[in-house]
Amino acid sequence: MITGLIIDGCERAGASGRTTPLINPATGEVFCETAAASAADVETAVAGAQRAFEQGWRDLAPGKRAEALLRLAALIRENAEEIARLDMQNVGKPITDARAEAALGARIFEYYAGAIARLCGETIPVAGGGFDFTLRQPVGVAVLIAPWNFPFPIACWKAAPALAAGNCAVLKPASLSPLSALRLGALASEAGIPPGVLQVLPGPGGEIGDALVTHPLTRKVSFTGSTAIGRRIMELAARGLKRISLELGGKSPNIVFADADLQKAASSSPMSVFGNAGQDCCARSRIFVERPVYGRFVEKFIEAARGLVVGDPEREQTRIGPLVSAAQRESVEEFLLNDHRVLGGERVGGRGFYLRPATIPGCDTTDKVWREEVFGPVACIRPFDTEEAMLREVNDSPYGLSGSIWTNDLKRALRVARRVESGVLSVNSHSSVHVEAPFGGCKQSGLGRDLGMSALEGYTELKNVFIAEE
Ligand code: NAP
Repeated sequence: MITGLIIDGCERAGASGRTTPLINPATGEVFCETAAASAADVETAVAGAQRAFEQGWRDLAPGKRAEALLRLAALIRENAEEIARLDMQNVGKPITDARAEAALGARIFEYYAGAIARLCGETIPVAGGGFDFTLRQPVGVAVLIAPWNFPFPIACWKAAPALAAGNCAVLKPASLSPLSALRLGALASEAGIPPGVLQVLPGPGGEIGDALVTHPLTRKVSFTGSTAIGRRIMELAARGLKRISLELGGKSPNIVFADADLQKAASSSPMSVFGNAGQDCCARSRIFVERPVYGRFVEKFIEAARGLVVGDPEREQTRIGPLVSAAQRESVEEFLLNDHRVLGGERVGGRGFYLRPATIPGCDTTDKVWREEVFGPVACIRPFDTEEAMLREVNDSPYGLSGSIWTNDLKRALRVARRVESGVLSVNSHSSVHVEAPFGGCKQSGLGRDLGMSALEGYTELKNVFIAEE
């Protein structure tokens, strides 16, 4: 297990010597300690990344960069079980989910290894003659700040496009979940990616975050986390006019029309909000059901939710593991306090931070639990009568990340998809993340996009070059 900082290709203790204890959410017990970076480590890591950038990574032939990323992807596949177990132990992720996420990490590096060849400029017929073309150049040192809910895939979907475009990066995992990111840093070295290209710095965000964002040598900040910290990063980044991309909170709708395949919608909807114990920015936690099928939907939803196995993340049949921490569970429970409508929501087991999924039918649009991001396994359901009224309620939220529409009427699906204020949306499906497609939000859910070609372009500077021909 890697527990030190990864700086310039080596594992080392932090300059301050401080460490962070990690608690296994399934047991509530400390299982290891990792080094905690301080401002002095930020200096060393950023200087090392800048050196690696200037001394070769930015100028490496695209094919060579692609080969390096493919070697890293292969190593991720070889070590997938170990990576999955790190996230299982570190954040309580069910092992089947953790395995899928480790494999996703490998796919992301494979995709961006291929995408390098498609990072094209264009030639532009400028009016006065001459030859004009654009170049996509790396921006320099990128700061990648990741949350704890999907530690490995989010680290990969930030690091892969950053490196593919020729940047070097300092990756700061969440303090609760540094282990798989540290493993990624070590695997990058094994894959022959030069020292300094990918630095991994676990440490308290409140302390080293500002130093990373305001450092004169960092040129881009890609952040995934809460809206409050995103706002702070935007303010700090404005001082240095840095590029930013922010993937923030959500309160996504799940819209079920009466003509939908009700069985499919109702049986798949519980995992769209309770998956990852509800700690998912895309959780479809506001469910709108057209009145004629409301009663039947709620019945089927509750039946499907009851069938979800809550428990030990190591068991293959577990669908819902513990919440990440005692504090996270308490913050979810506060939303349920004294609400007589709640079905479920009880603690499970004598140890660990388990909570049975909670369903709240008949929610009102003014309820706190309906309006705020819970980041736990809580589903709110409400009937609707007309498309117009429903859309007003859907968009009456500060967030705009994801969502689903269930209908067999294609025209309606298109009409509603256009009107929902969100960055991603799915029809007759609950999937939000596709490696090849842009992912991100609007309004208080953030700006900029991860994944797809959009993310790759986001790590580049678009330069225009004009060559006089006379
Ligand atoms: P968070 O508290 O905002 O933390 C996210 C990351 O930011 C962590 O690495 C954290 O480090 C770091 N951080 C904390 N203070 C910082 C500062 N002043 N400057 C720079 N970095 C700082 O969020 P979280 O509790 O980990 O994650 C939950 C939130 O993330 C939810 O709102 C969720 O919706 C959102 N999220 C969004 C997406 C998306 O794609 N839109 C995906 C996943 C999660 P420490 O851990 O050391 O504090």
